[in-house]
This record gives sequence, C-alpha cells and structure tokens, in this order.
Amino acid sequence: MPNKRCTRCKKWKASTKITPKTHAWCYSLLHSEGLSFSVDENCYLCNKCWMHSINQKQHREIKVKKENTNDVEDMDTGIDEEEDSLTIENIIFADSGHKKCIVCRSDVHGGLIVMPKPARLDLLVLKRMYAPHGVRSCTEHLWNSRLLPDTEVNIDNRQTPISKLEPSVLLQLINDLLGLLQEASSTTRLDFMDPCLTDEDYLAWTGWNKQQFEDMFTLISPDIRTSFNRDAKNTLAMFWIKLKTNLSFRQIGSLFNIPGDGEHRRKVAARSFDSVRQVL
Ligand SMILES: [Zn+2]
Ligand SMILES: [Zn+2]
Repeated sequence: MPNKRCTRCKKWKASTKITPKTHAWCYSLLHSEGLSFSVDENCYLCNKCWMHSINQKQHREIKVKKENTNDVEDMDTGIDEEEDSLTIENIIFADSGHKKCIVCRSDVHGGLIVMPKPARLDLLVLKRMYAPHGVRSCTEHLWNSRLLPDTEVNIDNRQTPISKLEPSVLLQLINDLLGLLQEASSTTRLDFMDPCLTDEDYLAWTGWNKQQFEDMFTLISPDIRTSFNRDAKNTLAMFWIKLKTNLSFRQIGSLFNIPGDGEHRRKVAARSFDSVRQVL
C-alpha cells in the first residue's frame, strides 16, 4: 500500500488500513484524540500510530482493571503489559509466509533473508510473538542476527494466539516452539558483563560506544545501588536502553532474564532505572 497518508500524524508512511467495521475501537480512539474524519471514509495509519493506538487501547483496558500508578513505572507503554510469563496462552503466532517480511510485511525483495534464530528469540521475548522456523525478514530490522531493539512490528491481521491454532498446524510447530521457549526462559538475552559485546552492540542498545559506556560506568558505579541482584553494569545499561528504545520495563526485565513473574521483572527494571536516574 504505497504512499497513503497516515490519518493521525499526516506522514505519507501509512501501511495499515482501518475500517469502521473491524476497528471501531480505533475510530473512537482517534476521535477522542480530536481527529475529525468521516466514519464512511477509510482511515490509514503508519506503523508508529497503529502501535500507539494498540498501546492506548490496552492501557485503557488495564486502567479500568486497576488504578495504581507511580512516577517511573508510569513511563511504560509496552504492548504486553497484562501478560505474565511466556506461555502458550499469551503468545501470538506470527507467520507471513515466505514471501513477506515478518516484521514490516513488505513484499519479497533483495534484502529479505531467513530470520535467524537469535532474532526469532528476541521476537518471542520482547514482543510475545512466535515466528516459525523459515520466516523471512528484511535485513534492516536485524543486526548481528538480533532484532534491532527499536523495531516496531506491524501486527495487522496477525493476532492469532498460539492456543487457537488448528491442532494439525500446532503439531508441526510444537518442537520448534518448545525449543525456543526453553531457550528464552533459561538464557539471558543481554548481559553487559559479557566481554564479547562489541562496540556496535553497545551503540545499538544504549546509544553509547563501549568506551563511553565504560567511562560513565567508572564515574557513577560507586553510587549505584545494586540491592536487587543486578550488577551495576547491567543496571546502567537498563537505564540507557529505557531511554533509547521504546521497550517497556517489563520487556527490559525479560531481556535481562530477571527472575520472577512479569510484574516482578517490571518492578525490578523500573527500580534499576530509578536508581541510575538519581545518581545522574
Ligand atoms: Zn502516523
Ligand atoms: Zn521488513
């Protein structure tokens, strides 16, 4: 869908078509933001505004559920706020066939490759999406076989929970899925104590190169409280990842494989962020 104008931000980057029939909630959300357009007219959204709308929708639903907020934790706009551990019930099955990019859904072109396993794991841990072995992705969403942290996934039409798949389909996938799940829950996706992390890794995640990060760390490490079992370097990394990416505290907690359920991970990551903020 080339050159459609996003109804919300007016940029010519819209890729998702919204119809009053299928997306009534989205229409009312856009109206509540003060956008005026006629209900009969089709509405298009860019990826950013589409993700924003989904976040808003989920936030509203959560707000109705519980009304407790607090400064730092309020910064969160992750899409998986109400989901806890990685289980079959809360994973979305993402398959675009072999002709489209799993991330942005653009059609086959030269830069499309088979998505490497580390990136599929990132998709699972960060986006709660299972991409089966063999799906394709543009190279620009990846770096060093990993999913770039700022990547936004175009999730239009792909909201099938794994648990709702046909049994025959599920059976074909189950070995691959179980293998990924086990790996996701037993290994840390990111560890800044790991000497193998390169300059580019540091830049992609924190916005600083390794030397800059180390210098900053030397300066502030004596003052960082590490009372929640995170070593100070990872605490500092969490702070910059939160600022640089659009990941939620819960997603960051999953990335560092903080033990406990999703709520606990979110709290630990939020406290880590706060402890660095106070030092800086
Ligand atoms: Zn937009
Ligand atoms: Zn793509």
